[in-house]
Formats: sequence, structure tokens, C-alpha cells
Amino acid sequence: MAATIRELSCADDYDPNSMPVDKARAFISKFLAPIGVTERLHIRAALGRVAAHDVISPIDVPGHDNSAMDGWAYRHADIVSTSANAASVRGEPVEPQHTTMKRVGTSYAGKPYLGPVGKGECVRIFTGAVMPADCDTVAMQERVTVDDAGVHLPNDLKAGQNRRFRGEDLKTGAVALPKGTLIGPAAVGLLASLGVAEVDVYRKLRVAFFSTGDELKTIGTPLGPGEIYDSNRYTIYGLLQRAGCQPIDLGNFVDDPEAIRSAFAAASTQADVIITSGGVSVGEADFIKQMLNEMGEVLFWKIAMKPGRPMAVGKVGDAYFFGLPGNPVAVTVTFYQFVRAAIATLQGRTDYALPPTAKATLTNKVKKLPGRTEFQRGVLTMGNSGYEVRTTGDQGSGILSSMVQANCFVVLSTETGNVEPGSMVDVQMFEGVM
Ligand code: AMP
Ligand code: MG
Repeated sequence: MAATIRELSCADDYDPNSMPVDKARAFISKFLAPIGVTERLHIRAALGRVAAHDVISPIDVPGHDNSAMDGWAYRHADIVSTSANAASVRGEPVEPQHTTMKRVGTSYAGKPYLGPVGKGECVRIFTGAVMPADCDTVAMQERVTVDDAGVHLPNDLKAGQNRRFRGEDLKTGAVALPKGTLIGPAAVGLLASLGVAEVDVYRKLRVAFFSTGDELKTIGTPLGPGEIYDSNRYTIYGLLQRAGCQPIDLGNFVDDPEAIRSAFAAASTQADVIITSGGVSVGEADFIKQMLNEMGEVLFWKIAMKPGRPMAVGKVGDAYFFGLPGNPVAVTVTFYQFVRAAIATLQGRTDYALPPTAKATLTNKVKKLPGRTEFQRGVLTMGNSGYEVRTTGDQGSGILSSMVQANCFVVLSTETGNVEPGSMVDVQMFEGVM
């Protein structure tokens, strides 16, 4: 059972003024409870959803022993053992060794050979075709010659070679797709291979989001002095689409308590999750803090990371709430580091893990002060002796172009200071998230 955020905030080592990244992650995961509402979908429509039950295989896959090759099926016991060994022991030249058999039929994929196969007989067979009942081995066609004398099969194959066994992919009654698994293209294919047309999945997570800030304008309207376009709502929309959510765009709001209060009220009745950007920094947070404490349980954190320091986490009504910083790069970093995994948990996924961290050689100098984790933007490439990464120029947290060029984060731990070229650093790939 998920703990409430209030209980968790009483935990001994909870310090909202310097939350380490790992602690924040662990804390968030403890108070999440999956949405759990299911629906039944055709397997194609289930792409990107999460299996709500174990899918049990109703059949053996494959349904018959079959050939892994185009070639010739025969009984291994009918291979006539030759004097090859004796010849090679005596130092005499060893001829390629074959056994000649008689062709009695053909087994095509979807059109099996149903007749008997007697001693010294063989069957022409194609990939995926059912193995004739009396045969156990397939010789690939490139190793077989056919002439008027018959079919010359190589003597050196092992019994059972090139034969696929009934049920070797899945046996009847086996769990084909465990509950909590993301249904990707291969899983859709797997379900089809079982003859399964529909599958129970969790409904899409509804995620409402809005931006706050007096300076924000929506694209399509001209900018006044000091105004900027609201880009975060577009980034967040993309991140939510990628994460398989149903995004609900509530627009952008000026820093006015009443406007923001009604936005939260609207969001909490229609969404499972609310994401905001802006308004969580020290100077701005005060009225939002007060308001959210009336509407739910929300904790304001200063995470020991750069970018992404201020963040709010909690519940507004029944909806989970993530208050992300306003800086565009900080939005993507906090989403990647905290919100993405939270979404996966709420979606019911049990198979989610952040993309694995890899080691790469840094090719440029990087400036950093110890004391907090930094997520710099990097470009990872394959060099001559392994992965190499360079950072993408100016690392200011408002510089979204650095994020667009990048394909990974360079993760620099709390203790790390400046890093010299040639050092090994940790990188986290964007692929799959951004
Ligand atoms: P805040 O966290 O509200 O103090 O915002 C930090 C910085 O991010 C400021 O420079 C804001 O102008 C900028 N910012 C906030 N919200 C957005 C947004 N939706 N799109 C683009 N920039 C934003
Ligand atoms: Mg603001």
C-alpha cells in the first residue's frame, strides 16, 4: 500500500531543503498507487499500453515440430556410418562422407507431407514446414546434392539438428505476457502468434498540465515587451505522448491566485496527474504553497541537482501533482529523472526502468562545483575505443537548443568538481523518453 505524502514527510532523513536525487526518487515511488482501471482492446490498439492481466498461452507455439531450414528431412539413425574414422587414422585421404537416400515427398509450410517415411528415405522440406512424423533431423539444402542415384545427405549432422520443437517458444498454459508489461510491437506480434485478438490493458493515464507566469504568451499571438512564448506546454505535451499518456492541455495562466486555483480545481477533477511548470521557486511559491495546502498535500523541495532545483510533489484532491520548475531545460530534466518513472508506476508498469547508465569518455572539459548532481546535455557517439561524449555548449537551464542537440545526459555526481577531457563519465540516453 502506498504511504501518504504526509507520513513520508515525517521520515527521519527527510529534508526538503536539500533532497538528493536518489532520495527524491525513492520518496516519490513510495506514495504512488497505480490507477488500476482496465479496458479490453484489440491487440493493435493495445500498442503502448500496459497488460492488466497475465496473458496465458492457449496453444503451443509453434504448434508442431518444424524445420528451421530449407533442406531435407530424414531419420538420423538411417545415416550409414562410414569408414571415415578408420581412413583418417590410417592417414589416407578422407572423402566427404554422405549417405544416399530416396526422396518420398515434400513438406511445405502450411502443406505437410502426411505419408510414411521408411528406412533410407527422406523428404524435401521448407522452413517452417511440419516435420514428417518419422523424421528427426534436417540437412540444409546447401549441403545436399541430388542426382539420379538419389539424395546425398551429409553424415556429420547431429541428431535433431535444424529441427524446431513444438512449444519451444511458448507452451500451452505458460505466461506469454506478464501483467504490468508494456505492450510494444514485439508483444503485439507475440499475442497474434497465440491467436489472441483482444487484451485487457490499463486505461490511459490522464495527465492535465498548465504553465504559470505573467510573461508567457501562447504561440500565434504577438509578443509584448518582456514576454516570451510558453514552450514548456509543448515540451510536456511531447513527453506525455511519448510516455503513452492522454495529455490534457489546460493552457497558461498569469501568476494570479484565483486563476491558478481554478486551474487546479479543474485539473484535479478530470486528471490522474497534474503537471505544472513555473511558480515553484522560492520567490514565487508562497501563494501556490498556501493554496495547495488547502487543496491537498504538497511538499516543496529544493533538490540537490542542476538544473531542476525547485520542485513540488504531492496530491491535489485525488490527483498526483508534480510542480516542475519554469526553466525549459529543468522541465525536461525533472520529467526524465522523476516524473517518467512515476507515470510508469501509475500506469501499472512493473517492467519500467530508466534507460541504463553507460560509461563514456568525455572529450571536452566540463566545469562543475561539488555539492549537487548535475545533468549536463551531451552528444554520445561511438569512438574507436568505445563510447565518447561531448557536452553541448552553454549549459544554462534556459537554453533549450542544448537539449535539442543532445542525445543524452552526462550525469556528474554530487562530489564531482571540474572534469578533464579523457575522464570516464556516466551518461543516460534520451531514447525512449525524450
Ligand atoms: P519560474 O520557475 O516561474 O521562476 O521560471 C523560471 C524561468 O523559466 C523564467 O525565465 C521563466 O520566464 C521561464 N519559464 C517559465 N515558464 C515557462 C514556460 N512555460 N515556457 C518557457 N519558459 C518559461
Ligand atoms: Mg514564473
